Amino acid sequence: MKYIDEYRNKKLAGVLSKKIKEIMPLSGIRLMEVCGTHTHNFFRFGLDKILPQSLKLISGPGCPVCVSPQEYIDKALSLVKNKDVIIATFGDMIRIPGTSSTLEKERARFGNVRAVYSPLDSLQLAKNNPDKKIVFLGVGFETTIPTIAISILLAKKEKLKNIYFLNSLKLIPPALDFLMKDKSVEIDGFLCPGHVSAIIGTNAYEFIPRKYKIGCCIAGFEPLDILEGIYLLVQQKVRKKAKVLNQYSRVVTSLGNKRALGIIKRVFTIKDSSWRGLGIIPGSGLEVRKELSCFDADKHFSLKTCIEKSGHKKTRCRCGDVLKGKIQPDECRLFRRLCTPENPYGPCMVSNEGACNAYYKYH
Ligand code: SF4
Repeated sequence: MKYIDEYRNKKLAGVLSKKIKEIMPLSGIRLMEVCGTHTHNFFRFGLDKILPQSLKLISGPGCPVCVSPQEYIDKALSLVKNKDVIIATFGDMIRIPGTSSTLEKERARFGNVRAVYSPLDSLQLAKNNPDKKIVFLGVGFETTIPTIAISILLAKKEKLKNIYFLNSLKLIPPALDFLMKDKSVEIDGFLCPGHVSAIIGTNAYEFIPRKYKIGCCIAGFEPLDILEGIYLLVQQKVRKKAKVLNQYSRVVTSLGNKRALGIIKRVFTIKDSSWRGLGIIPGSGLEVRKELSCFDADKHFSLKTCIEKSGHKKTRCRCGDVLKGKIQPDECRLFRRLCTPENPYGPCMVSNEGACNAYYKYH
């Protein structure tokens, strides 16, 4: 298959793995693969088996389902009980545990949760159900945000009065900055996500080598992309020259997608945001602009008050430590015993892109 098979060539993978082994420093290296798709493909294609053991790949906070906070799910759960509401959401979101339940369990009771493939589907749902209020759960990073922004603009253009967006949208660069400020986190380089970078461009990461003296490499998602990205990061570490490199130049430019960035800016303003397992990260979230706030579910349903009352449930899930690279998933005491993809205790086990899920399937 054009542009797929070329990047899955086993012989070339062997060559790259040999090159990495040749330059690998004795002290070892810890690289964070920021994106869940990197995590998943790293194990799916068995790259862990052809790389030196002293190279540690840490899963970062780049799985939108994994970082959606418990209170966000609680907000959605509080809406499910409203018989006038239909919740529209991506399939994975249905299974994430909130404080006391999941949307999947509540769907069985109330029947008003629908899985959709795109926020645009929720517009159609609104047109087909004029007597209901449709609430789309908007989660995702810079890759998904433009489509959600377009959906809000379309809802305005089409004068829809029964659609609302409950957003937990996240920005990747502030999360990387936050991780690097944590002195207990040990990272020698970031393997940056190809699709997010296609929107924000390579320049968005320049602060990392400048402030923290570690390298970044934007990489695609096929095995050879990932291996070449790792090779470029190891090389930077060995040469002690930290900079931003772009392995994925067939898709990513230095300035990113100006049109998509313009649409995001038209619809959202930046705010602080809560990440599951990490806490509040300054400037890492987005809020619908005042002039479009009639589509903001938080405002329409006054959800903040309900959540402050609900409080947080303490669980033994260690997703936060997994996302910071402090432990590997199998170091969590619940892994494989109580926490499985069929019965996930934490969000990292729910999504295909979650580190615990990938470990469970392939490790
Ligand atoms: S194994 Fe389950 S409980 Fe443990 S960190 Fe992963 S998701 Fe959380």
